[in-house]
Amino acid sequence: MTAPVIEALGVRKRFGDHDVLRGVDLAVAAHEVVVLIGASGSGKSTLLRTMNLIERVDDGQILLSGTDITDPRVDADAVRARIGVVFQHFNLFPHLTVLDNVTLAARRVHRVSKAEAARRGRELLTALGLGDKAGSYPDRLSGGQQQRVAIVRAILTDPELLLLDEITSALDPQLVGEVLDLVRELKGRGTTILMATHEMSFAREVADRVVFLKDGVLVEQGPPEQIFGAPQHPATAEFLARVG
Ligand code: ADP
Ligand code: MG
Repeated sequence: MTAPVIEALGVRKRFGDHDVLRGVDLAVAAHEVVVLIGASGSGKSTLLRTMNLIERVDDGQILLSGTDITDPRVDADAVRARIGVVFQHFNLFPHLTVLDNVTLAARRVHRVSKAEAARRGRELLTALGLGDKAGSYPDRLSGGQQQRVAIVRAILTDPELLLLDEITSALDPQLVGEVLDLVRELKGRGTTILMATHEMSFAREVADRVVFLKDGVLVEQGPPEQIFGAPQHPATAEFLARVG
């Protein structure tokens, strides 16, 4: 058995007197697509942020391919270089072209040469339907295109894990589909993905496993057919009835 790509073990996080994560255990295997669902404030973003070491856990461990990344001696930048992340608000640099946005981290963090980064960037943009945007500035792109560029940037250096946090929440409804299509495409390529989303139909269709968080507790997880079709826990059923 190879180690999970990412594994949270008894992860706890508290802000002030608010227990936001109350002992979460969650593992994602290589090539798996795991979707986190749960009400706003249930701790989805915080869990993703602990995995990227943006937030430090108060207790528990997070293993990245078997290595404890919550060990204080671990180089956080080196860990972050192994994980691709896309958030709700695409943070492309407005003064850089799409190609430069996509290749910046590869060049700065991964020390890939400018020519090699540009070659990979163009290749990936083309493969993912954005080839004609390489020379454009972000303000010439739709929100959906910007978010797709942010995803390309996140995967350019083949991260072990891709964390996606509500990547369609800030988009106009008609732009959501093209971003989710790209996630589908990445799943087809075998990318290991842990994503938080409000898009239940997408979760149902694309997730290998759905994880329901409530008040910082992992209440239930299972294949989408179980979670959406026959939830084992009343809180899951109640949440799904509410979000429709
Ligand atoms: P979700 O992504 O499921 O909506 P979050 O992880 O963003 O949930 O937030 C969970 C809870 O933690 C919320 O009550 C939020 O207000 C709180 N929280 C998140 N980050 C911080 C922070 N940096 N400081 C204080 N409270 C925070
Ligand atoms: Mg969130």
